[in-house]
Amino acid sequence: MPRGMEKLSKRLLFLGLVIYLSCGTAAAVTVKNFIDNTEGEVSSETISGLTYISLTELGSFLGTETSWDQLAKRLTLEKGDRFIQVTLFSPYVITADETFNLHYPAEFRNGSIYVPVAFFAPIIKEILPLESRWDRESQSLYLQSPDYNVKGLRITPKANGLLLEVLLTEALKYETIITEEGWLNLTVHGGILNNLIQEDFEKGEIVRDLKTYQFEAAAQLSFLVKKRMDHRISFKEKPPRILVSLWERGTGPGIFQEGVTWDKNKIDLVVIDPGHGGEDDGAVGRHSGLKEKEVVLDIAKRLAEKLEREGFEVILTRKDDTFLPLGERTQIANGAGADLFISIHANASPKRKPRGSETFFLAMAKNDEARAVAALENSAIRFEKPESYSEENLTSELDLILLDMVQNEYLRESSDLAELIQNQFKGRLRIPSRGIDQAGFYVLNRAYMPAVLVEVAFISNREEEKLLGQGKFRERVAEAICRGLVDFKRKYEGIP
Ligand SMILES: [Zn+2]
Repeated sequence: MPRGMEKLSKRLLFLGLVIYLSCGTAAAVTVKNFIDNTEGEVSSETISGLTYISLTELGSFLGTETSWDQLAKRLTLEKGDRFIQVTLFSPYVITADETFNLHYPAEFRNGSIYVPVAFFAPIIKEILPLESRWDRESQSLYLQSPDYNVKGLRITPKANGLLLEVLLTEALKYETIITEEGWLNLTVHGGILNNLIQEDFEKGEIVRDLKTYQFEAAAQLSFLVKKRMDHRISFKEKPPRILVSLWERGTGPGIFQEGVTWDKNKIDLVVIDPGHGGEDDGAVGRHSGLKEKEVVLDIAKRLAEKLEREGFEVILTRKDDTFLPLGERTQIANGAGADLFISIHANASPKRKPRGSETFFLAMAKNDEARAVAALENSAIRFEKPESYSEENLTSELDLILLDMVQNEYLRESSDLAELIQNQFKGRLRIPSRGIDQAGFYVLNRAYMPAVLVEVAFISNREEEKLLGQGKFRERVAEAICRGLVDFKRKYEGIP
């Protein structure tokens, strides 16, 4: 209960001391300083339903100079040339730079000035380079360095899982490992943790525990994840954040559309995926021994150059002869927030006759031939190390039904893109066009954007093998794909 001004006297300090000694209800708040890892208690009182803390005790915990002006009834906390002045029974606080309003007056208790901590906490930074936060529930005042770049963790429950968002202040590189015990370790390179992430975390059914570690060159968040959950990690630019989607195995990731914002008005970033690579040669020509992995890499590089000239941003999933697991190819595209994904291949058949260009978009293979092409391209999975892909991840009909949901979102766009590219092939390649088709390509099924796979020609056909070996033909292929992408951009962005 506020006292009248008339009660204020020089005896106040003495009186306060008497009250303090006689009642002795010693409530306290915890002050936790993450900068030097110290923890202390500061006396508190509940006044008008608000938690007030002793300013003198807080000052001594913070290591500030504290002085009391008896005449002005004013307490000053000082650190160097910075100061905070609190006047008894006044809600106004004066610092070197400005005046703050605590909304509730400073009160006198137990021989000291008390201030409402919720309103006083944000003012502490006026004398010390730190960030403070009052947590009413745990009656704790947290102090930490404001220089973190891993600033928070947002957890959003989903119908079949959970979306974790690690909020950053800037784009940072990251990697993840799952341990046998079920810990999903997310390492953020160059990360400086906001310590409150740990403080704020609440255990749940899916993420059962969280441990955070600050290393010299990285920060780590370790989530203890419920058994039988699958995950997908991606990065989003605005605002910068790492998304970790967790879903019950077998329910598919298609439900996670948050953070996936394909914008038809902004088709700028294209991820080009040259098929195969490294130990996986792809198909090999019978006559010249031409390797699919080499042909498609060359076409991809030519295409990249052309697209850049058209104003696109381009990322290649591989720039040299290295092996890349199929799943990682779309992860690169998802992680970069690509607007389009295009995988480049050369077709092959056990028969020598089949020839022509063909463009696929992902769906269930609707005929046996399309299924055969898919089987051929999906076979790269056999080169992947067993630990990187579990049995469930291998392409099966069932798996495709679930994963289909991801691409379904962009089925219309993907089929449009396939058609526009194939139209260009028709006009420019001087080989037969086999049209567009749908098939269950593993490399496409986790792309969160319109995605197609082109089979530029048959390396198993003598004539086309010869063509694929020629720079001139590859150039024409790159030009055709480029024109197809430009057509697509025009169509969707509505530029005449
Ligand atoms: Zn291929």
